[in-house]
Amino acid sequence: MRIPDLIDSLDRPFVSIELLPPRRDAEQSGFWQTVERLQTMKPLFTAVTCGAGGKGSVGTLATSRNLAEKHGFTVMPHVTCVHTKESDLKSQLDAIQSCGIRNVLAVRGDFPAGMESAPKGLRYASDLVKRINELAPTMAVGVAAYPDGHPESRSILEDIGFLKHKLDAGAAFGVTQLFFDNRRYFDMVDRLAAMGCDKPIIPSVLPIRTLGQIKRVMELCDAPIPGTILSEIEKAHEKGGDEAVGEYGTRLAATQLSDLLAGGAPGVHLYPFNQAELCLKVVQRAGLLP
Ligand SMILES: Cc1cc2nc3c(=O)[nH]c(=O)nc-3n(C[C@H](O)[C@H](O)[C@H](O)COP(=O)(O)OP(=O)(O)OC[C@H]3O[C@@H](n4cnc5c(N)ncnc54)[C@H](O)[C@@H]3O)c2cc1C
Repeated sequence: MRIPDLIDSLDRPFVSIELLPPRRDAEQSGFWQTVERLQTMKPLFTAVTCGAGGKGSVGTLATSRNLAEKHGFTVMPHVTCVHTKESDLKSQLDAIQSCGIRNVLAVRGDFPAGMESAPKGLRYASDLVKRINELAPTMAVGVAAYPDGHPESRSILEDIGFLKHKLDAGAAFGVTQLFFDNRRYFDMVDRLAAMGCDKPIIPSVLPIRTLGQIKRVMELCDAPIPGTILSEIEKAHEKGGDEAVGEYGTRLAATQLSDLLAGGAPGVHLYPFNQAELCLKVVQRAGLLP
C-alpha cells in the first residue's frame, strides 16, 4: 500500500525502520534474525537503503523483494540518481512494482569516491521524482529532508526551498536525516506549511549504541551533534563503556521520539543500523510497542 494512504488511515502514531541490505552472504542470517526481532514492533513500513555511504547498490532489490513477499512488510526501496542510468530507470521501477511494492524514496545518493556530481538528466532528486512519476504514476515517491540543512545548501532556508521544490515536483512525503534538536524539525514543518505544503514529513531518530558508532554516523551524514549530547556520551563511556552509552542512547531516543509525537509528528522513522534490541527498548520505553 502507498505510505501516504497508510498514514492517512491511521488514528495513532507509527514507527518505521530503515534497513541496510546485507552485502555479503555471511551477513544474511544475522540480518534476517534482526528483521524478525524488529517485526515485533509492527513497523508501518521498512525502508531499504541503496549504496548509502558511497558504496555500490548491492542487495536493495533482493532484500526489498524478500521483505515484501516473504515477510509481508510495506517496503520502500531507495532509488538514487548516482546508481541509476536514466535509460535503466523504467526496468528498475518495473522490477520494484513486480514485487507488489508501491513506494520508493528518491534521493540523489552519496557520491562514491571520485564522483562530484550526479549524471546529467538525473542530476538532482527532484529530476528523479519527476521521472518516477512519469514512468510509474501509481507509486508514492518520498524524498529526503534535512532539519539541520543539507551540507551543500547555503542556509537552512535555502534547503527548505529545495525540499519544497522536490515536494512540488511530485513527491508525496519526506523522510528526514537524523537530527537531535526537535525544534529544527518543527520549524521546517511550520515553514513548509507557511508555503502552503502540508505533505507528511517523517522525522528520523537514531538510537545511539556506542561512542564509535555515533562518531562514524555523524561523519557519514555530515550532521551536527549538539556538544551537550556528545559530552554526555563521552561521560557515559568513561564510566561504563559502550553499555552505558547504549543506556544513555536509549533514554535520549525515547525522549526525542515521545516529544516528536507529542508535538504532532505523524510517526517516527528509526535507524536500527541492523541491530534490533536498542530500537525495541526505545519503542517500549516510549510506550509504542504493540
Ligand atoms: C532519509 C534519507 C535516506 C537516504 N538514503 C540514501 C541511500 O539509500 N543511498 C545514498 O547513497 N544516500 C542516501 N541518503 C543521502 C543522500 O543521498 C545525500 O544526503 C545526498 O547528498 C543528497 O541527496 P538528496 O536526495 O537530498 O539530494 P537533492 O535533493 O538533489 O539535493 C542535494 C543538494 O543539491 C542542491 N540542489 C538541489 N536541488 C537543486 C536545484 N534544483 N538547483 C540547484 N541546486 C540544487 C542543494 O544544495 C541540495 O542540498 C539519504 C538521506 C536521507 C535524509
